[in-house]
Amino acid sequence: MRFSCIHTHTVFCDGADDVETCCRSAYEKGLVSIGFSAHAPINKKTGLCSAWHLSEERLGEYLESVRAAKKRWEGKLPVYLGLEADFIPGLTGPADRDYREMDLDYIIGAVHYVIPPKGKPFTVDDPPDDLDRNIEHSFGGDIRGLLEAYWDNMEAMIRAGGFDMLAHPDLVKKNNLGPDGRENRLFSEKESSYRERTAVIAGLMAQSGIPAEISTGGMNRGKTKDCYPSLDFLKLFREQGVPMMINADAHRAEHLDGYYETARQALLDAGYTGAVIFNGRENGQALWKNEEL
Ligand SMILES: [Zn+2]
Ligand SMILES: [Zn+2]
Repeated sequence: MRFSCIHTHTVFCDGADDVETCCRSAYEKGLVSIGFSAHAPINKKTGLCSAWHLSEERLGEYLESVRAAKKRWEGKLPVYLGLEADFIPGLTGPADRDYREMDLDYIIGAVHYVIPPKGKPFTVDDPPDDLDRNIEHSFGGDIRGLLEAYWDNMEAMIRAGGFDMLAHPDLVKKNNLGPDGRENRLFSEKESSYRERTAVIAGLMAQSGIPAEISTGGMNRGKTKDCYPSLDFLKLFREQGVPMMINADAHRAEHLDGYYETARQALLDAGYTGAVIFNGRENGQALWKNEEL
């Protein structure tokens, strides 16, 4: 099958390489296209402090830089302009009106933050020590509280819509693999409550008609042993008929096709026969092309 990556970060946010380096790498790797998805600015909208999002001040420069690459690579490699938009209820989300005015090719909807009953929103993919401290402080050490908050937020984002592809559906498992290699450090994905919540997510995604990504980002960065989503969750997506796109969540040009064969195999193991590739935007609608696995 042919591969692409539309989940790519550059030096404009927390990536290591610039736009041109990523385009060249995608071309050399034989990807059919590349899309850029900087973490959309949140500081002004939310008052939260973040070093890994694009800054409001550099948003224009980012948009121009990807549009310039689009022109430079015309005829050789389709280059798409996107953003990865965080969902933080009441503060910001992929459905925000300002995104509609940017003439983007696509928006990736992402949940990184949970909203605890007390304290500030925090991210589930923080380094393990930070996450553990936040679980202790905001959820009284109860991991179930964190999981409920994560799935609540994910459900709310899917219902609110405004995005074209769902990012890393079970990012919450990122810190489940301990630095010492211990698995299920925080929770078991086999618990019935975990299965129930992921089944609801798969059902909501099916209703929305929006594809989800199968992301190799955790493996690319040495944080997980498998893709987002795990095989059981992927099977739920397959049962519901949710289209999947393989993406690297690349923060380095060299990762643009990292572990793609593993993702392809996971899709086959889950019973998929095809995956989708982003194929541009027409009349305000994201277009997708089917690829046989
Ligand atoms: Zn993300
Ligand atoms: Zn990302």
